Amino acid sequence: MTMIEDKEKEEEILDILAQYQKKDYSFSSGHILGSMCSQPHPIAKKTYYQFLETNIGDPGLFPGTKEIENKFLSFILSLLRAPKTASGHVVSGGTEGNISSMWIAKQLTGKKEIILPSSAHFSFQKIASLMEMKLNIVPQTAEHTMDISQIKRKISKDTAAIVGIAGTTDVGAIDPIPEIAEICADEHVFFHVDAAFGGFIIPFLNQLGYTLPTVDFTLPGISTISLDAHKMGYAAIPLGTLVLRNKSWLEHISVNSQCISTKKQAGILGTRPGAPVAAGYAVTQYLGQKGYQQLVESCMKTTKYTIQKITDLGLNLVIKPKLNVITVKVTHLDEIVDRLADYGWGVNKIDHLSSFRIVIMPQITKNIIDEFIPVLKKTCHEVGEI
Ligand code: PLP
Repeated sequence: MTMIEDKEKEEEILDILAQYQKKDYSFSSGHILGSMCSQPHPIAKKTYYQFLETNIGDPGLFPGTKEIENKFLSFILSLLRAPKTASGHVVSGGTEGNISSMWIAKQLTGKKEIILPSSAHFSFQKIASLMEMKLNIVPQTAEHTMDISQIKRKISKDTAAIVGIAGTTDVGAIDPIPEIAEICADEHVFFHVDAAFGGFIIPFLNQLGYTLPTVDFTLPGISTISLDAHKMGYAAIPLGTLVLRNKSWLEHISVNSQCISTKKQAGILGTRPGAPVAAGYAVTQYLGQKGYQQLVESCMKTTKYTIQKITDLGLNLVIKPKLNVITVKVTHLDEIVDRLADYGWGVNKIDHLSSFRIVIMPQITKNIIDEFIPVLKKTCHEVGEI
């Protein structure tokens, strides 16, 4: 195929795109304070471009990239101390991880009810709508975790799955995963752990001697765990993983596939990008478990620093953070968030808690916090919050 080259046109288009991009926040500025995604590690950026044209939906054409995917999954399986029967499934992120898990649970049990905490991510509303499943909500404790005293009596002949969250979207709370796993093992109920955010933090913090709830397959009651490399994995969007205790479960979400190099295809997507997978694998190899330990420890130190600065201003937090998520309770929520945006800072609004969320991702340093705190102070004064 001959390419029509037009340098002038190329520059014109790139210029226009750059103008649009100027309107965006950037992770490199450090001003994105509320997102659970991070600036990709430099090696992820390089690798992404190198693998831009790969499609692992058709692995016969890209067997090398498919091997990379298997190696990436091995890293995740070992992180989650998964048994030999287990298997990993690459997904686009936490939403697809949750959908895929609930799809498996529905297929395995033939049932349609999900027991889940009120803190569950809004992707479960999509699941309810897509698969006509019913959400049976468990209330929260004062610590914003699932109230386990309420779970047993909700289990019925209609229960397809129970869901627990390891790193909730609003406040970064961790549900009592070992206790829920025990209930699920006793009652023979499918248990999905949504560790989209916490999956790349909690295991490393526990390796460092923190005493957070165990979130891995050493708990026999856990059926699936989803965790996102594009959140605390320091990888590039879109990259999540669903790990299944039993690899045969993938067959329940597989169909016969024609016109591609495999007879069967599992999961939701058809064409799937190899670039984020290669990028994610590169980061896991570059950092290794030790590198991730350093990274999460540094995020936790900066979190502690930020909490002190925020509480020194006279502001209160919704809970004492267990992870690197700081949710600040305010009365003038809209004004504060809008003004911070006017000053160039992006925090996330959590309306139902009348609060805003700051997530201390790897690119957020103490220097950035030192830059932000005076702006927050000024903003709070302007709106009469403090
Ligand atoms: N689960 C949890 C706990 C989350 O916090 C999020 C997103 O923040 C998701 C699932 C959805 O992830 P994604 O936006 O990557 O689909």
